[in-house]
Parts: sequence; structure tokens; C-alpha cells
Amino acid sequence: MLKVSTTNCTGCGACENICPLNAIKLEENSEGFSYPNIDSTKCTNCGMCEKVCPIKNHTKHEELDYVYAITTDDEIRMKSSSGGAFTLLATEILQNNGYVCGASYSKDFKSVEHIIISSVDELYKLNTSKYIQSNINNIYKKIKELLNKDFEVLFSGTPCQVAGLNNFLGKDYTNLTTIDILCHGVPSPLVWRKYLEKINPENKTIKSINFRDKAYGTYPLHFSIKYSDGNTFIENSKKNPYFKGFLKNLTLRKSCYNCKYATLARTSDITLGDFWKLQKFDKKLNDNKGYSAYMPNTEKGKVFLDKISKNAKLFQKIPVKYLVKGNPTLKAPPKPHTNRNHFFNLLNTTSNITALLNEHLENLYYDGIITNIWSSNNYGAILTAYALQQYFKSKGQDYRILDYTPKHNLKKHFEDFTKKYLNLTHPVNDLKDLVDLNNYTENFVVGSDQVFKDEVVKKTPFLYLLTYTDFSKHRIAFSASFGKDSFEAPQNDFNTLKRCYSRFDAISVRELSGVDLCREKFNLEAKHILDPVFLTDKCIFERLVDKNCNKYKNKLVYYTLDATKEIVDKINKVAEAKGLEALNIAHKGLSVEEFLTAIHDCECFITDSFHGCCFAIIFNKAFLCLVNSDRGSARFDSLAKTFDISKNFVSKPQEITLENIDISNIDYNKIEKIISDSKEIADKWYNDVFNNPKPKTNVQISNEFDFVKYGDDKKLRIMPKTSPKDFIFSIKKGSVRITLQILGIKIHFKKR
Ligand SMILES: Cc1cc2nc3c(=O)[nH]c(=O)nc-3n(C[C@H](O)[C@H](O)[C@H](O)COP(=O)(O)OP(=O)(O)OC[C@H]3O[C@@H](n4cnc5c(N)ncnc54)[C@H](O)[C@@H]3O)c2cc1C
Ligand code: SF4
Ligand code: SF4
Ligand code: SF4
Repeated sequence: MLKVSTTNCTGCGACENICPLNAIKLEENSEGFSYPNIDSTKCTNCGMCEKVCPIKNHTKHEELDYVYAITTDDEIRMKSSSGGAFTLLATEILQNNGYVCGASYSKDFKSVEHIIISSVDELYKLNTSKYIQSNINNIYKKIKELLNKDFEVLFSGTPCQVAGLNNFLGKDYTNLTTIDILCHGVPSPLVWRKYLEKINPENKTIKSINFRDKAYGTYPLHFSIKYSDGNTFIENSKKNPYFKGFLKNLTLRKSCYNCKYATLARTSDITLGDFWKLQKFDKKLNDNKGYSAYMPNTEKGKVFLDKISKNAKLFQKIPVKYLVKGNPTLKAPPKPHTNRNHFFNLLNTTSNITALLNEHLENLYYDGIITNIWSSNNYGAILTAYALQQYFKSKGQDYRILDYTPKHNLKKHFEDFTKKYLNLTHPVNDLKDLVDLNNYTENFVVGSDQVFKDEVVKKTPFLYLLTYTDFSKHRIAFSASFGKDSFEAPQNDFNTLKRCYSRFDAISVRELSGVDLCREKFNLEAKHILDPVFLTDKCIFERLVDKNCNKYKNKLVYYTLDATKEIVDKINKVAEAKGLEALNIAHKGLSVEEFLTAIHDCECFITDSFHGCCFAIIFNKAFLCLVNSDRGSARFDSLAKTFDISKNFVSKPQEITLENIDISNIDYNKIEKIISDSKEIADKWYNDVFNNPKPKTNVQISNEFDFVKYGDDKKLRIMPKTSPKDFIFSIKKGSVRITLQILGIKIHFKKR
């Protein structure tokens, strides 16, 4: 049966259109976007829906070096979003008895849907961009009927809709031409309905709506509503909250942030868009009436280009780089607004959509915050942080990594990776900033890596014990590691630690020994979950590998942090016996990508690093691990036990031998199965913990927050584990915050 995640499904409707038994209906979810719902009593598992789903497969055309800037008569330009290229194409088809399919407002303007027109008089319905996801209904079936009757059809839509139509048809029709638009993403139909209700509370009859009303200027864009009673509502895109929600990626469909059509290799015959920044090519091309960009992606696209050239006022061939300058979605999908999920979580509870939009456009909210040791200039630490971030992303959650700056002293190669790949919170400098984080999120995660190691906790206990978080927040430890199989602390601190850990809603630990430590030392039940580098899809690391690098192929690569002369001599001997050159990558300042490339490409790998081993396992390498017990052997023991590869873990330099590094010691089929089973365990734990967080039960008011001594000179601010029965006072420096709980409803008062 068809299974597509909400992060990928575009709502293209191909599955609904193809189902021979009408078993699929696209239905709106709580965000207002439509997703397939399958009636299992009708479905016969024929597999047709799965086959046509463009998430699984779609065709891409070759990238172009040149595109065209086109305009037409000023009258048409004023009625169009860009330069009016769409009207030129549509007119060409309609005047030859063909049909044109595109997006139109419904009669009451409360939604947008795809319709088919057959005359130029109806073209106004399709003109101009409607920044709302359009409903495809059963339009693909109707197009197929017209094509089979040999009519010319021009289809226009978002790239995912064109991909949906192409897959639904399953073959190339010579009488079909497709147009896709350069697509920034589509906003939620529910947000639109709520917005329309808000600005038209009396439900007055609407004559027209235009997101690009050029009567008020082309840039900034102007949104207008004209009412039958002669009144007009007009607001520019920099002020209008609905428009800002679209442009700032707050209200878009989840799949838009993952869009695989955000590339120069297009899906349709013709791509149309705004030629923003055309004046960079020629500053005279700037008359403020809008320019169309035309990409002739196929032979049909080129034939139509010829046909419309005679009616075009401007027809100019331009290198594609000028189009890319003003259209970043030709290279990558839009990034979600930080507050996107928080906004949608509140959408159904709001009666004031403009306030909700404004609040989320102006203030910051995070889905969750991850605290770990990513900034410790260590490949393992930074890649673990990245893996955890990607794990949450795969669940549709934009968790941010805490940017706790006092400890920052990142080396250039780690800083480069951070800038490119890590999604950090705003900078947080001190305990006061940490306490302030309670205003930004509900979910605090600590993990993975050695965040529970006694020395790490001792240095900055408030950070890794999450003591600065309020009682009402969710605190979760994700694959946290004690680093070794003991935890050293004075007895007094143990009492504090027990109290801190007991405030966590759930704890998972990376080592098997961590489960015992939690039980014995802290009286806690913890789940064993593998390091996040094993839980994320392997391809996220493969994508970082440099495919053009040949430096490490057929080499014995070693990454030993504590190398002695004896160790290096042994490694060289093994390399010689294998007829390979030995290459050391430790302390060489390699970029994170090159570090992964070296492990990925080498013939065999020797290391004393935990994450070095992890990546050797992920990339299925012949490897040998020299366990340094001074740095803690529990981590290695757990890895060896989990994957049943004890032979590959040795403790003395003399054991660096040819036999021990033999790949036949490792059964990678078995390991892949263990990883896949572990992923399932982690996913189940994730669902239990994150999708069904424990309700906070009432406790006595005497359990209000207090400052507790930890270590020699540190004080921890600890809020109670659960909410007090009736009310809580929490007084912060220079500010008062009161939370009242009446009949289970919490009301917050803040005074600054
Ligand atoms: C949601 C959306 C996002 C866009 N993002 C970008 C962008 O990032 N960069 C860029 O250069 N251009 C973008 N465009 C395209 C641009 O706004 C113009 O639609 C395009 O340049 C065509 O303009 P025109 O003057 O040739 O035709 P117009 O006469 O303005 O024709 C509008 C065309 O867009 C189609 N259309 C309108 N609304 C929708 C909708 N909701 N879903 C599917 N199709 C629709 C109509 O069917 C018609 O074919 C976007 C358009 C939409 C609808
Ligand atoms: S065919 Fe389209 S609507 Fe159906 S599951 Fe695939 S992407 Fe979603
Ligand atoms: S498997 Fe076949 S019958 Fe079932 S929903 Fe898909 S297309 Fe319809
Ligand atoms: S951004 Fe991508 S997924 Fe979203 S509507 Fe456009 S083409 Fe479809």
C-alpha cells in the first residue's frame, strides 16, 4: 500500500487520479494541506498509486545554459504576474481550438483549484499567481480524455503537479505541452481561509483578488481585494502578514522544504518565472512592469518559444546565471522558518490569524533545542551533532543545536562545517541567556556523545543537566554517554544529580553499561539507543564524501589520537605486508568532509577513536580499533558487543596485525541488519517519548525552584519536576513571572 511521509508528499494528486477503485481521497490535515487517505476496504493492493507517485520516480530534463527574458503588450503585462509569457502561450493554444489547464480561485475565493478553459475570454481566471496550494481534484483524468480525443492541451502548475500529471499519463503525448513555474513553495489553504475570514469578517462579495496588483506598483508586490460594493483592500508584501508568511517560508507545505524540483534540471517542457535581477544583465531592462523568464527545457518548449516570439515585445537570450541570481530555488529548496512548526501547532486554536502570523514572524520559537559537545573541535562530536539534527529533521522537526558561545574556540575546518551544515540557535552566552531559552521552546534534548561523563558534567552542570529549564518543559536525554562505566562524584553531589536526572521525561544512553549506571547510581530506567550516526540514513554522510578525491584510494589510512612510535611502526608493518601506503590523517586539520572521504575511500582503516570506528562500520570497511582504556573503554566494549566484532578491537600495539584487520572477521550483512533493527527500536522510543510526552502531574508548592549547590563553587537553578497544584511564583532577576493553574488551564503573566 502507498506509504509516503508528510515531509515528502507534495499533494500532487497522481495517486488519487490513478486509483481504479476510487479508494484514495486527498484530505486536509491539521495544517490545511491535503494528503492521501486510503480506504482499505476498497483497496486491492494493485500498486498503481505507488507506481505513479513522483516521490519514487520522475523525469528530469537537461540543464540549460541560456534562458529567455520575455515581455508582451503592457495591457497583458499589467494583468499578469511577470511579463505575460503565460498569456502568449495560452492564447496560442486557445486560438487553435486547444485547452488550457491552470490554477483559478474558486467562486467564493476561499480556495484555489485547477480548471480547464477553452476560450481566451476565460484566461483572466488563470492569470496571476495565487499564493495558495491549488487543488488538483480529478483534473489529470479530464486532461487524459482530451488528449485521447487528439485535442492540444497546455497544462500549467507547480513542478510537482507537472511531475504528477506526467506520471499519471505514463507516456509522452505529442499534443500535450507542460509549463511549470519557478516555485518558491505553496502556503496552506487553511491559513488562507482563516486569513480571508479575518479581513472579510462580514463575508462581503468579492469581485477579484490579486497578489500582484500592478496598479499599485510592481515592487514591492501589492495584494488587493476588490469588493462588489466598490471598496478595495490593498497592502504591500512587506506589510501584509499573509504575504510575509509565504515569502519568509513560515506557511509552506512540509514537502517544499525538501523539494526535489528546486533545481535547474526541470520536469516540464517550459518553465516560467519572474526574471528578478534582469537589470544585472542590462540595466535598461528595468521598467517596473515585470519580466517573464522562459526556460525552453525540451523540443516542444523551443517550438513554442518560436511561436510566441512574433507577439513578444522583448525577446532576449540570456545566460542562465542571471536567472539563478534572483531565483535561489533553482539551486536549493527554501529553508523552513524557525517558527514554522510552532505556528502550525497553534493554527487550529487561533481566532486571530493575523496576530498569530505577526507573532511568529517577529519572535523566535524552536521545535526543540539540542545540547551537546559539538564545539569541542572533534570530528566525532560535530558529526554526532549533525546526525542528531538530521534525525529530528527526518521526523519533520527543526531542532536547533544550542549555540553556547563561551566555550567557542572552533578551528577553521570545524567552523566551516558548522556554518554549512549545523542549524544553531541564536547565540547564548551565560546562565541568564540559558534561562531565557524557556521562552523559545518546549523541548530540551541533551545528547548524544559524552554529555553525561562526570568531568563534562562537573565543568558546566547546568548545561548538561538542563537545570535551567522550567518545570513545564520536556527534558530528554538522547543516546547520552557516560564515556566510561563509572561516574565519580562526592556523595552530596550525587543527591543533586539524582534530583536533576529524575526531572528528565526520558533517558536513553549510548552504551549498554550506561543502562546499568543509570539504574545503580541514579535509580533510573534508561533505554539503550545507538549513537545517532547509526540512526540517520547512511546517505547523509555519503553525500559529504568528495567523489573526485583519489588521495585515499588503495591506502591504509590511520587516525590515532594517541599515537606512539611503537603504534606507528606496527601500522607501517601491516601496510607493508598488505602492499599499501600508510597515511596518517590525525592532527592534519582535514575538513570534516575530507575526514569522511578518507575513511570512505581507504582500503583499510586503523584508529583509536570511537567515531572513527563508527564511520568505518557505516562505510563497511576492513578496520582495526586500538582501544585506549585511559579515554574509557566502555564505549568501545559496547560497540564491539552490539555488532559482535570483538576481534576488531584490540588493546595493545602488538595486536596491530594483518590477521586482526582482515575484513573477513566482519559480517557486514549481519551488521546492517543490527543497524536496521536498532533504528526501529530508536524510532519506537522516539514515538513514545516525543509524540506522547508524559503529562505533567501536580506536586506540592514546596517543590518550587531552588538553587542547589553542586561541586565546589557552583549553584544550580532547579525547577521542580512537575507543576505545582495551584500556582507557581518564579521570580527572576528584575522580572516577575507568575503561572496560575485553574482547572487544569495554565495562564502565564510576565512582567519585565
Ligand atoms: C505559489 C507560487 C510560487 C511562485 N514562486 C516563484 C518564485 O520563487 N520565483 C519566480 O520567479 N516565480 C515564482 N512564481 C511564478 C510567478 O509568480 C509567475 O506565476 C510566473 O512567472 C508566470 O507569470 P506570467 O506573467 O507568465 O503569467 P500569469 O498570467 O501571471 O500566470 C500565472 C500562472 O501561474 C499559474 N498559477 C497561479 N497560481 C498557481 C498556484 N497556486 N499553483 C499552481 N499554478 C499557479 C497559473 O495557472 C498560470 O499559469 C510562483 C508562482 C506561484 C503560484
Ligand atoms: S502521488 Fe502525489 S499526492 Fe500521492 S502520495 Fe505521491 S506525492 Fe503524495
Ligand atoms: S493500491 Fe490500487 S486499489 Fe489500492 S489505493 Fe492504490 S491504486 Fe487504489
Ligand atoms: S516547492 Fe516543490 S514541493 Fe512545494 S509546491 Fe513547489 S514544486 Fe511542489
